[in-house]
Amino acid sequence: MTQEELFKKLVAHCKEYGFIFPSSEIYDGLSAVYDYGQMGVELKNNIKKYWWDSMTRLHDNIVGIDAAIFMHPRTWEASGHVGAFNDPLIDNRDSKKRYRADVLIEDWLAKQDEKIAKEVEKARKRFGESFDEEKFRATSPRVAETAARRDAVHQRMADALNANDLEALRQIIIDCEIACPISGTRNWTEVRQFNLMFETKVGSVAEGANTIYLRPETAQGIFVNFLNVQKTGRMKLPFGIAQIGKAFRNEIVARQFIFRMREFEQMEMQFFVRPGEEMMWWNKWKETRMSWHRALGFGDDNYRFHDHEKLAHYANAATDVEYNFPFGFKEVEGIHSRTDFDLGNHQKFSGRKIQYFDPETGESYVPYVVETSIGVDRMVLQVLSAAFAEEKLDNGEERTVLRIPAQLAPVKAAVLPLVKKDGLPELAHRIKNELKFDYNIQYDEKDSIGKRYRRQDAIGTPFCITVDHQSLEDGTVTVRLRDTMEQSRVAIDALHGLIESKVSMRSLFDKLK
Ligand code: ATP
Repeated sequence: MTQEELFKKLVAHCKEYGFIFPSSEIYDGLSAVYDYGQMGVELKNNIKKYWWDSMTRLHDNIVGIDAAIFMHPRTWEASGHVGAFNDPLIDNRDSKKRYRADVLIEDWLAKQDEKIAKEVEKARKRFGESFDEEKFRATSPRVAETAARRDAVHQRMADALNANDLEALRQIIIDCEIACPISGTRNWTEVRQFNLMFETKVGSVAEGANTIYLRPETAQGIFVNFLNVQKTGRMKLPFGIAQIGKAFRNEIVARQFIFRMREFEQMEMQFFVRPGEEMMWWNKWKETRMSWHRALGFGDDNYRFHDHEKLAHYANAATDVEYNFPFGFKEVEGIHSRTDFDLGNHQKFSGRKIQYFDPETGESYVPYVVETSIGVDRMVLQVLSAAFAEEKLDNGEERTVLRIPAQLAPVKAAVLPLVKKDGLPELAHRIKNELKFDYNIQYDEKDSIGKRYRRQDAIGTPFCITVDHQSLEDGTVTVRLRDTMEQSRVAIDALHGLIESKVSMRSLFDKLK
């Protein structure tokens, strides 16, 4: 199965099992907007809890807030979003499709990397045991030529983006002979800047309505509350403010399912530090965030850092955490050193003094900021991509299983009476009713036990608890594990402890030390 087929299957699976639905589907959906179903919302909530607790509980100096989505419109002038939150867009005149110019070029760069990888693989087959990859890459003329061309284009793109040179971006597309994937032609328009913020109006039109924006990031709600939190929480630098909430961007290249949405959710933490200490903290947060991802056990090699070609208008250092999705390594989280840009500008635009008095140095100053910003939906996609598997079993049957880490699984256990009589359903209900105060538990008595196991595998339930006639006699049940399908007899009294040992977030937090 190719990665593309795998991804298609995953998308279909998400719908079939109540994880993710297209928005307003009865009206044929709304592009790049999705709804979370009964399983998806549980997974999402667990991911948010993993993030929130790891930030606010495990760090004495980080507190949370929940700011409004609507903010005073001046906020977005101060933050630079009104002037500079743009994507460079280009249209193909034949297909009438619109693309991000930088994304077209990045796709071309990825193709060159694929070409090189193919050459290497061919040579590996040809040379067998004695193959020396490093030497081959350094000496093969064909690889060298492709790599040189790729690097040159890469450099040109970085220069054009940094200089905001739209004509130069277009020229790269022309020079690389990039064609529209739909029409196959190279009939391109000029490149134009397009602001990504959604606008709406407050107040009735008669009174003179004001344009306001749907926030494109949650961070500004933190910056405008810096003094409120610092003073009321008696916070001392360095300290952080965390927030989870919706953000909105009028994305043009809307594809890859929930990877790029127009309405999405962010988990952001702004960490305020002394000027001059920001690089030390930036490095520290890179490490901390990477270990948060890796603790989930999806394989350390599936993550990498990717430094930005073009620094955003506010940043002096920026890197992305990328995950190896079925469609390649892509950003899930950004870690940015935002300098004093935001607080400094809010001070300027609001006319209020936004400074911190440092009792250790006796000085007042505008703090510097290191931000960690992760998309909840990209995290959901990361977990689902890593978890999805189709397996052939020893008995010749197949199963689809979501190997979601037990701590994040939507349903922790299913209680299944072997038959619908002889008092087994009653005992199964009693077990469920005891466990439900602490865990999300399902009760299921329909169909054969094998079918019920399959249904639980498909939503990623780590434990199936089967109640049979022996249970009535000796107070034990069969516990079947999702990943190994191993079964063992467990006393009913021991169920709580067994589930807790696997689903408690504690086991993840222990890895973060
Ligand atoms: P990209 O380059 O993919 O557009 P970005 O660099 O603009 O992303 P940031 O502004 O750094 O993204 O936002 C922080 C995080 O928010 C991203 O790492 C991502 O997880 C998430 N995010 C941003 N835009 C979207 C979107 N349209 N849909 C879903 N998640 C998003």
